[in-house]
Amino acid sequence: MFQNPAVKELVEKYKPLWALDSVGALLEWDMETYMPIGSSEQRGVTLSQTQLLRQERMLQLSDIVSTARRSQELNDSESGIVRVLGRDIDYYTKVPPKLLEDIFRTSAEGTVVWREARKKSDFSMFKPYLEKMMSLKRQEAEKLGYKGHPYNALLDRFEEGVTTDDVDKVFSPLQSELKAILTKVLAAGKFPSSHPLEAISYEEPAMKRVNEDALKLLRMPEKTFRMDISTHPFTTSMSIEDVRITTRYEGKDFKASLFSTVHESGHAIYELQIDRSLNYTPLARGTSLGVHESQSRFWENFVGRSREFIKRVYPSLKANLPFVSGYSEDEVYRYVNSVRPSLIRVDADELTYNFHIMLRYELEKKLIGGEMEVAEAPSVWNDLMEKYVGVRPRDDAEGMLQDVHWSGGLIGYFATYSLGNVIAGMFYNRIQKDLDFKATVAGAELGRIKDWLKERLHKYGATYSPKEIQKRVFGEAYNPQWLIRYLQEKYLT
Ligand SMILES: [Zn+2]
Repeated sequence: MFQNPAVKELVEKYKPLWALDSVGALLEWDMETYMPIGSSEQRGVTLSQTQLLRQERMLQLSDIVSTARRSQELNDSESGIVRVLGRDIDYYTKVPPKLLEDIFRTSAEGTVVWREARKKSDFSMFKPYLEKMMSLKRQEAEKLGYKGHPYNALLDRFEEGVTTDDVDKVFSPLQSELKAILTKVLAAGKFPSSHPLEAISYEEPAMKRVNEDALKLLRMPEKTFRMDISTHPFTTSMSIEDVRITTRYEGKDFKASLFSTVHESGHAIYELQIDRSLNYTPLARGTSLGVHESQSRFWENFVGRSREFIKRVYPSLKANLPFVSGYSEDEVYRYVNSVRPSLIRVDADELTYNFHIMLRYELEKKLIGGEMEVAEAPSVWNDLMEKYVGVRPRDDAEGMLQDVHWSGGLIGYFATYSLGNVIAGMFYNRIQKDLDFKATVAGAELGRIKDWLKERLHKYGATYSPKEIQKRVFGEAYNPQWLIRYLQEKYLT
């Protein structure tokens, strides 16, 4: 697999870095699940010191990466190694340590203040921290360099090679087409403003059994995978042989827990199916946030919220949550697929979710481009919510204080959620050329879908950039038409 002498040397010297990343992932997982709260300051220091060590060791690989880059005949895996390491080295070379430290400190302080500000719904508390973060991120963009809009430099960190032009081309048709679907769905009065199943309480152990049954349906491996609990569900990977997800139990509205589990399992399947030959290399990870999100959304929405999957999980729901017996399979399907304008992104349905993302993307772009002041952002947020979804936040806790991302310096991240939905739509269209998707979800081994995804995407890890891998699978990248068509079929027929 790796023949080029410079690449072989890189792979060997990368091992300690791989170990550092693995340790970091384990520490972060622990922080969100089992760590005693009193340890949070110390854990912050441990993590930032680990990061410094990573940066130092990564920069030591710089000369070998340059040598490897000059080689004429690199195979795809070798080019992948050079590309992935080159991106990290480029970042550490261009962004001065002082700026990185400022971002880290502002993020740590800002996140604490943001929590308090959200609780009190008081944007003025958080405003100076957001102003500081936006200014630091503008500096980061300047240091990194960009063509066109400064936001491109930040976007590229999360979705390699993607620019605002690319995103605008996706979001513009998505916005008008989804708005048309939403208008029709609301006019038809298909979904009530609330569903009785949302309010009925469940016992956590019973819900856990439902989630475990769902994991069995998805054939999640027992020896290399585990599920725990955290406030905000996530997936992390210590290695290809140790991938962990978390889920949430809020005590009612069971679909939130079930679909968090299926969503995170989608992320985990991607990580678990990376080819073993890439173990310990920088390619042993998903290629971008958007492509990763395509996998979680594919399993959550296209598989999980289908009639066929509901049919398979319904017996477990009835057995473990006795109140479900009062509702038919069809009613449960309607409950998990309700479309309704709402204010909070993480609770939004499959259709309106994308509006929440487009709004954040527009705001970020303007803030980074200097076309809007932070002080104006909350009212612009509220106006856009009303324009897109037809509801207006009553306060900033329901509005622009709801997400943790900006306080943590994650600017350029949100767009990848909707890009993920778009790529999931492309997978849904493509997979049906090779297998009877509905019949497979209805009765056959779901492993067939996993195998299909493994062969086309998972096994390569980060070998190809997000645009390259899409061109290989679909012959095109980020085409929103397939997601639009799927949503039209699902909600308008
Ligand atoms: Zn996700």
